Parts: sequence; C-alpha cells; structure tokens
Amino acid sequence: MIWNKEMECADRETMRALQLEKLQKTVKYEYENVAPYRKKMDDAGVKPEDIKTLEDIRKLPFTTKEDLAANYPKGLFAAKDEDIVRVHASSGTTGKPKIAGYTRGDLEIWGECVARALTCAGQDKNSVIQIAYGYGLFTGGLGAHIGAETIGATTIPMSSGNTKKQIMFMKDMKSTAFCCTPSYALTVAEGLAKEGVDPSELSLQAGIFGAEPWTEGMRENIEKGLGLKAYDIYGLTEIIGPGVSISCDEHNGMHIQEDYFYPEIIDPETLEPLPDGEIGELVFTTLGKEGFPMIRYRTRDLCYLMRDKCACGRTTVRMGKILGRTDDMLIIRGVNVFPSQIEEVISRFEELTINYMIYVGRENNKDTFDLEVELAPGLEIDDIGFVENLRSRVDHALRDMLGIGCKVKFLNADTLPRSEGKAVRVKDTRKLHDK
Ligand code: AMP
Ligand code: ZN
Repeated sequence: MIWNKEMECADRETMRALQLEKLQKTVKYEYENVAPYRKKMDDAGVKPEDIKTLEDIRKLPFTTKEDLAANYPKGLFAAKDEDIVRVHASSGTTGKPKIAGYTRGDLEIWGECVARALTCAGQDKNSVIQIAYGYGLFTGGLGAHIGAETIGATTIPMSSGNTKKQIMFMKDMKSTAFCCTPSYALTVAEGLAKEGVDPSELSLQAGIFGAEPWTEGMRENIEKGLGLKAYDIYGLTEIIGPGVSISCDEHNGMHIQEDYFYPEIIDPETLEPLPDGEIGELVFTTLGKEGFPMIRYRTRDLCYLMRDKCACGRTTVRMGKILGRTDDMLIIRGVNVFPSQIEEVISRFEELTINYMIYVGRENNKDTFDLEVELAPGLEIDDIGFVENLRSRVDHALRDMLGIGCKVKFLNADTLPRSEGKAVRVKDTRKLHDK
C-alpha cells in the first residue's frame, strides 16, 4: 500500500521540477524572514534569484548545529510567533536545547510524512497503533501520533516505559503496530519472554522503530522477539521529527519524502557534495516548512544515497541505514570506531545478547577501550572453558572489524541497564578530562 502515489511514485522530471519550484520559494522565504541566514547569504554573495536549477543549491551556505545554538531559542524561526502552534526540542551541543517551531501547515506536512511511513509499514485505518516513543518535547511520541491519526488508525498514546503495561495493551487491544526506539523494542521483547508470552499470541504485524542507529542484526533480534516486521524510520527535530524517511519491505534503505526534504551527501571535511553511493554527511533542505525552515542543514549523520529502482514501486531516493554520526565516532588510539560496528559484531554471536556498553578512558597517556557484553540467557560466566573460547572468538572478530583490540568483559544475562528511549551505550571519560 502507498499513501500518496502521486508523490511517492512520481517520475524523476516531475519530482525535480516540483523540488526546484519549492526550493526557490524556500530560499526567498528564508532570505526575507530569517535575518541570520540572510546575513550568511549576503556574506556568500548569493541572492535568492541565483537559484535557477536544483544544482544551484550548492551555492547556498550550510546551516549547522552551532547556528542553532548561536540563535537560541527562536532566532531561526521564520514564522510570526502567532502562527507557531507547537514547539519540540532536542538536546543541543552546548547544553542549550535545539528548539523547533511548527505552524499548522508544518503539522500537516508532518502528519502526511508519517502517514506515508505507517502505510509503507502496512498500516491503515483498521490498524491499532501502539506508540511507545516518549511523549513530550521529544518528537518521537507526538510525531508517530500525528501520522497514526492521519491514516485513521486507532492510536494508543502509551509513551515509553512500563513494559508490563505495554504488553497488557498489546494483548488486550490487539495492537497491530508498535512504535518505539529499537533499544526499547528489545526491552519489550525480553519482557514478553520473561512473562512467557509467545509473540504468536499477539496481533503485531509491524514495528516502526527509529530515533537511534541500529544494525541489521538488531533488526533480526527484534523481529524474532516481537513476532513482527521491523521498519526503520528516520528523522530529526531540526528537520521535522520522525518521518523524513522510512524503509520499505525491501529493507534496502529508507525512502526519503523528497518533495519535503531535499537530501545531499557531503564530505564532512571538504564540504564538497559526494556522488550517490558514497558515504558522507547527510544534509537536508526543507521544502515547504514555514515555522523553522532549514537550508542545507548538516545533520552530522553518516550514510549514502541510492537512486536505483526499488521493487516496492516507490521512486523516491533512498538513504542507507545510518552508520553513525560524525559526533559519535570514537577516535581510539587514532582509529575511528563506530558503536554500530561493535553492535554488528556482537549480533553475530548467538552466545551473546545484543546489550552492550562501551567504555573509553585514558590511563598513562594511552586510550583504554573496554566492552561489557552479556551472555545469552542460560549461559554462565563461571563456565571458564566456554568463556575463554568465546573470548578468543569475540576478540578476533572485533579486531577484524575495528583494526584495534578492546578488552571484553562478559556479564550474565540481564545485568546491563535496559533502555526505554534512546539507548546510552558509550561512556567516554576522556572528554571529561579535556575540559
Ligand atoms: P532527535 O532530534 O533528538 O530525535 O535526534 C535525531 C537524531 O537521531 C538523528 O540526527 C539521528 O542521529 C538519530 N536517528 C533518528 N532516527 C534514526 C534512525 N532511524 N536510524 C539511526 N539514527 C536515527
Ligand atoms: Zn522501496
């Protein structure tokens, strides 16, 4: 099922013509209404009239997280205060949150995008959608909510946490879709197992999971544990929230709602655009947003774009799974390490759960790198022969993936803290010493 065939399956020329028209409007609107961005354009010597083709977008200055901090709280809003009907916020780089403002029109766009995502995950007005993203300033809860209401599903605004109650509602309300972070989905899957509930007793068909990076291995774990098909939903507060893109049944990238969000991939060092297929930093320009429009916003998320034909019938450009963020990349002993690489290794071992914690520190002027990971239920850390054999295989696989070694500590199942929202899996104490 496709929510908006006209847009999701448009031919390339139609989409590009629409994008150009919307881009020209956006740039003019931003220039006229957002003084700090107007200054940037003036400094770069570019005027709205200079945008004659889609490629001319490259003439425009980027917007960064630092720009948001410098113009906190509302300096980059373009609409009048009286037209803002909602704000959301996300934690910022400097301790001040990033505040996003929405007009009524923006909420409609958001509803449309999440409606497309939920439909892509097989949901419709007969569905029962249980939302276990946090409600509040975080965009997850209310973002999924507006989409579920737009498609006319029965919407259950659970918010996150209280796993027993989540399971009770799932059973009693016959929820067909479950929306939350992948790490919380895993927590709920464990809750089901603990209560002895077989997923086949539930009515779940689809999981719409996002807001944090997760690997294919994690997807398999969740699909098995909850008895559903898991879809990846991507978004960020600065652009709108969840619904910027969604994976389809092909599980080969996420379709970007590109009539609203124009994507580019750039080299984060040189800031030059990269061709399709090359990994770099994802940059978005909003097309049609009024409250808090963004031009060439540097997300810091790393992925690549794909434009080959997708078997689902949608023609929109796809982004690969988020491989990490430029700012969650750890540089350990000079080597770049992404938590997702570690997750991928762990997910290959049946003897391990997919819960882990990474600790990075500094001792005697050298980086320390430790990993805590749980043995699967039923296995014991006291079984020394088994654990030593496993250690050597895990060490080997990690070294192969990362190029450096790390000290692995095995824990019994169910000992690491479980996540209800975005999981915290890295403790890097080196930063504390730097400041
Ligand atoms: P926030 O605005 O606080 O919800 O955070 C947005 C950030 O969460 C994005 O920039 C990504 O780094 C991350 N994120 C959101 N959705 C996904 C996803 N599906 N996969 C990986 N990371 C995601
Ligand atoms: Zn597809």
